[in-house]
Amino acid sequence: MKKTLADIDVKRKKVLVRVDYNVPVDANLKIINDKRIMSTLPTIEYLLKKNAAIILMSHLGRPKGKVIPEMSLKPVADRLGEVLGKPVKFVGGDCVSDESKKAAKDLKPGQILLLENLRFHPEEEGKNAAGEKDKPSMNAFAKELASLCEVFVQDAFGTVHRSHASTAGIVKYIKDAAVGFLVEKELKFLGEALENPVRPFLAILGGAKVSDKINVIENLLDKVDSIIIGGAMAYTFLKAQGVSTGVSLVEDGKLDLALDLLKTAKERKVNFLLPVDHVITNKVDFVSKSMPSDAVVETTIDEAICNGFMGVDIGIKSIEKFAEVVKSVKTIVWNGPLGIFEIDEFSKGTVEIAKMVADATDEGAISVVGGGDSVSAVKKVGVDKRISHISTGGGASLEFLEGKDLPGIAILPDKK
Ligand code: AMP
Repeated sequence: MKKTLADIDVKRKKVLVRVDYNVPVDANLKIINDKRIMSTLPTIEYLLKKNAAIILMSHLGRPKGKVIPEMSLKPVADRLGEVLGKPVKFVGGDCVSDESKKAAKDLKPGQILLLENLRFHPEEEGKNAAGEKDKPSMNAFAKELASLCEVFVQDAFGTVHRSHASTAGIVKYIKDAAVGFLVEKELKFLGEALENPVRPFLAILGGAKVSDKINVIENLLDKVDSIIIGGAMAYTFLKAQGVSTGVSLVEDGKLDLALDLLKTAKERKVNFLLPVDHVITNKVDFVSKSMPSDAVVETTIDEAICNGFMGVDIGIKSIEKFAEVVKSVKTIVWNGPLGIFEIDEFSKGTVEIAKMVADATDEGAISVVGGGDSVSAVKKVGVDKRISHISTGGGASLEFLEGKDLPGIAILPDKK
């Protein structure tokens, strides 16, 4: 267990908090969705109550080490100020300029300062001005950031899988550090699901590629009672077993691996469920994510997909079969859509899974949903409030499910 904010002394201290304010902004620099700002409020409000002087730091977009005015965090400072009903100081340009350092130094208890986009500095991502890998420069930058504060708090779950100056590098230059309330919640739900799940434990995995999720499947086969595979990934498993998959998205180079995973599942007595029928079509416009008007759409009677057609969603029999399993479990981890859910005609499988996971949660199961697409799916269906935990970090939650150490967490001190 990592030290959390409640374990450390922050009273009237200068506290530097790594947050994830990588919010979507439109062409007029208006914030389209402020969820990431809102999710940091528990930590900020706690620090305000403790009369800490709060310095917030984040990245926004991918400026690649250059100052890009459109990627300034100024709109975030304004929005946070509105939400909190108090001014949030902001110094533009450079997060470790003399002016920024002075603003941090002069910050009084109860005041808040947001630093400019960390990624305007190439050192944040471990590079120098020439774009080459450069650890000493990264360390020097991390040290400068550390010099702004007395205490460091990691509350940016979306970036803890990256070994950057503000996530991992900084910790060795800090006297006291802990995870913030957002990261604490992520670790609690993801950690407990994996290490100490209430059984039966089900994982639902979807999405485009087996290769992206091999490590997740391998790691989960050690822990779950059942696993449901949907999305294009399912076709690689079906083809590996000799089922015809037409022109579905199959990774032919991963067929042997799929067979190995099926064998491991059998040895470990994991109930490995694949779709038993599919929605298929002969045409999809993958660029615009739409269905051409002359496309033929059908549902198969079993696993097999005929020549010239591709599987784009799970069929009704699969939905019914999966529903039985979802109903019977006590812990559910879901990552990845079960079809091309961006196209309404192919979204039914994902929508129904979202509803059944929410229903199971109402009945007492613990549900954790991660990954951008499955998170958008539960929101689109309007069941997000009924899910136990929606992860704020797509990449980080996937690496957690893979059983990897997250550099921004691993380096933080443990609870005594
Ligand atoms: P991932 O990022 O791996 O979770 O993949 C998400 C993407 O997988 C979404 O954009 C889906 O449209 C896509 N996807 C899901 N099912 C299929 C399918 N049957 N064929 C092609 N793409 C799919």
